[in-house]
Amino acid sequence: MTANLYLNSIYRATEGEGALIGRPQIFVRVQGCAIGCANCDSKDTWNFEVSPSCHVADALVQILALSHPKLRRVSITGGDPLHPKHVPGVLELARELKSRKFFISLEASGTRIVHEIFDLIDFINFDFKPPSTKTERTLENQAKLIVELAQQYPGKFQIKSVAQDERDFATVLKCHELVEEKLGAAINFDWCLTPVYNPGEAFPLERFKLILQLNENAGGVFRVIGQQHKWVYGPNEKEV
Ligand code: SF4
Repeated sequence: MTANLYLNSIYRATEGEGALIGRPQIFVRVQGCAIGCANCDSKDTWNFEVSPSCHVADALVQILALSHPKLRRVSITGGDPLHPKHVPGVLELARELKSRKFFISLEASGTRIVHEIFDLIDFINFDFKPPSTKTERTLENQAKLIVELAQQYPGKFQIKSVAQDERDFATVLKCHELVEEKLGAAINFDWCLTPVYNPGEAFPLERFKLILQLNENAGGVFRVIGQQHKWVYGPNEKEV
């Protein structure tokens, strides 16, 4: 093993959001992200410089120590694990884990498809970035990538989008329609909406109800799933 990983942390916890909610897994959180979502809840993972790189072999030792004969699931998250700086380390780690029969999911920021990694792993969590993230990603570009995923990785991904307000919801819905139009068929994969729950705020009940209501009014095309780990541990707790 020769590649390095820029690591924030490795820990065991239960998936708190999206279609895989409730499944215990080992999280490998890389350090470094250049996307800059305004409502990111992991801003401590942005800076590439704060974490000295470690060998993939050392990360593997930590993962194996946290695993269990029946718990062989790893989530590679960040940060942005598909940033070019992370790709060699993530790729090598994924190969090592697959050779040990781990199930691997990866949190993709939705800005790029990295085939060499996507071909290898078991499940892709692919973000759609709505206006509240202030990432200025166009709806058309995001729809194009989602169509590519649907065509090339059927049954192997979900789309995840945070939703702050009516504007976010309307944008996500528009993208959903555009993707169906480009595919020429109804969407048959999970598209999850996560009502924003910012660090430091009380549980945003009214925002949650609003997103539920908007989705019901629009025909229920999305799955609205909150961030369970924040209900249990609070919105500021790390490694849960
Ligand atoms: S891509 Fe993820 S880690 Fe990066 S800023 Fe956005 S939410 Fe935060």
